[in-house]
Amino acid sequence: MPKGLFRGGIHPPENKERTATLRTVVAQRPSKVAVLLHQGSNCPLTPTVAKGDHVRMGQKVADTEEKWGVPAHSPVSGKIDSIGLVRTASGAQDQAIFIVPDEEDVLDESCVPVDNVFSRPPEELIAMIREAGIVGMGGAEFPTHIKLSLPPKVEVDTLLLNGAECEPYLTADHRLMVERPRDIIRGAQILMRAIGVMRTRIGIEDNKPDAIHAMRDAAVSAAGIEVVPVKTRYPQGSEKHLIKSVLGREVPPGCLPFSVGVVVSNVGTAAAVADRFDRGLPLIERIVTVTGSAVASPANLIAKIGTPASELIEACGGFVGEPGKIIFGGPMMGMAVPSADVPTGRGTSGILVMSREESAVFEEMPCIKCGQCVDACPMRLEPAFLHQWSEAGLWDEAEAYHAMDCIECGVCTYVCPSRRNLVQAIKRAKFEISARRRAARERGGK
Ligand code: SF4
Ligand code: SF4
Repeated sequence: MPKGLFRGGIHPPENKERTATLRTVVAQRPSKVAVLLHQGSNCPLTPTVAKGDHVRMGQKVADTEEKWGVPAHSPVSGKIDSIGLVRTASGAQDQAIFIVPDEEDVLDESCVPVDNVFSRPPEELIAMIREAGIVGMGGAEFPTHIKLSLPPKVEVDTLLLNGAECEPYLTADHRLMVERPRDIIRGAQILMRAIGVMRTRIGIEDNKPDAIHAMRDAAVSAAGIEVVPVKTRYPQGSEKHLIKSVLGREVPPGCLPFSVGVVVSNVGTAAAVADRFDRGLPLIERIVTVTGSAVASPANLIAKIGTPASELIEACGGFVGEPGKIIFGGPMMGMAVPSADVPTGRGTSGILVMSREESAVFEEMPCIKCGQCVDACPMRLEPAFLHQWSEAGLWDEAEAYHAMDCIECGVCTYVCPSRRNLVQAIKRAKFEISARRRAARERGGK
């Protein structure tokens, strides 16, 4: 296997050219933001404010005592309009705090930079990262403080920053690396202190030479930090594949990156950490790539988290023609949202609007046993069989064929000439297997 690569995967059209060279622009003040009370970690938050309260930008408005949860902060200064239901990206209704901004953008007094960062104990840094509401900004929204709190006796030697951004269309991380490389390096240094390692590698796909150059320049005097260009191949940004490409280490099935001595974090997460320590800011805004053939003027916007997608699309000139599908994230792993009113979240790296023609639904044809899905699967699974077991509700068979190792990258569906909905069927199998495992645990079984 050549260096910087892994087995399988695909190289779909990149479609990044419309936004890759555009500087980020601060989005206009939203008319209203929705702070979700049920976030990526799945821990419901309890509001610490009430209807009618005035809040300041960066003020904590909801929290939880659950270990996995992180608090939420107001992205704006303004007034709590209501606390009620909102339709989220998944299509479900969830509780949210609705805040109407004022014109002032007053920062809360709790938002102060941290001094003597490198003489503070790692546990204190990790607690501050949690308190700032920082989660993985690559899309999954995994709580960063959990990732950094390694189990006893686990030893890691490397922080791996993920700057691959392998999803077509998306250029949010690309622009971040070009425009704020020093903040990413600073965030990496704080993360290194938090997990006790002396070495960071930053994996960036080789279709972003300007980002590689900017990051190398910023890292030149940073001890232990090196940029490693990797081949442009989807899903290079998957944790396990980036570890293989950059470090040559294989994460065994069912194991996490720390099992091979690595903690992986997105470049956006590193910048958010720097923002917390150097500017005092919790995670209240992020770069969102608004793009697709049905958007008039695609752009990378610095947007308040909780802004309705419709307002960001409007800031990009609105729709061109009739939109077919609005996706949060990229076309491979993103989620089609039920309406343009859905608020963005901490993991919303892109809003992709496809035309009606591009969104056509194809009829599934019978499997012709061509094996293309098996050849392309980067996890070496057998997607055709997994689809078969899932359709038949044979969850034991799906588990035996390692359904739980599927990273839901969508490669099998992309290559299938019979247009079979392989990844959807495998997601269903994973859901059922997880439910069965949970039920067994609750019964006191295995
Ligand atoms: S089976 Fe899962 S991991 Fe393999 S290609 Fe399909 S979606 Fe990706
Ligand atoms: S790629 Fe499609 S048609 Fe070919 S083996 Fe896989 S499921 Fe069957």
